[in-house]
Amino acid sequence: MSSAQNYTPPPADAVVLFAGTDASEWVQRSSGDPCRWRIIDGAMEVVPGTGDIVTKRRFRDFELHLEFWLPLMADKTGQARANSGLYLQGLYEIQILDSYNNETYPLGVCAALYNQVAPSQNAALPPEQWQTYHVFFRAPKFDAEGNRVQDGAVTLLWNGVKVHDETPITVPTGGHLDHSPSEPGPIMLQDHGNKIRFRNIWIRPL
Ligand code: MG
Repeated sequence: MSSAQNYTPPPADAVVLFAGTDASEWVQRSSGDPCRWRIIDGAMEVVPGTGDIVTKRRFRDFELHLEFWLPLMADKTGQARANSGLYLQGLYEIQILDSYNNETYPLGVCAALYNQVAPSQNAALPPEQWQTYHVFFRAPKFDAEGNRVQDGAVTLLWNGVKVHDETPITVPTGGHLDHSPSEPGPIMLQDHGNKIRFRNIWIRPL
């Protein structure tokens, strides 16, 4: 794999969450222990069975850049083919899946706001190439009494193609963290049992 492929360097004011060697911004979801995913070739790779990982830092509104690499799983189909997920605020999943010539239900394809809103188009690259997500996320807003006064929203560029444009976010996705949508939350990456790799992850709180 070419290390320069699709690489977007972080801006100077970004919080770098992973730059190739150091996973110390991340902990295991369930235990809070140091990240147990492995570091390989400048990437973090899911070690199946270790569980989801979350950032130590918490965020509300942000711009996030992340690159992911999906293994070729030619013997698998649908949701079994290179599955992971990016959870915003620990609550809302943007699906990660090999969606290159891989049929599945529309709300489960790569870049879907999982089970809620499909991407406007399929911008998938073949497996074993680096792909990019560039996310603009606005968390839902609540008044002092805890009433929701504004839905959350997500804009997503997938490999440079805008596939969500201010898509409203209303309810948390299954598998979400147990915390209030009115509070900042971590970024979470899902261990769905497949050896997905991540690199060049940075965030700018907005
Ligand atoms: Mg998933």
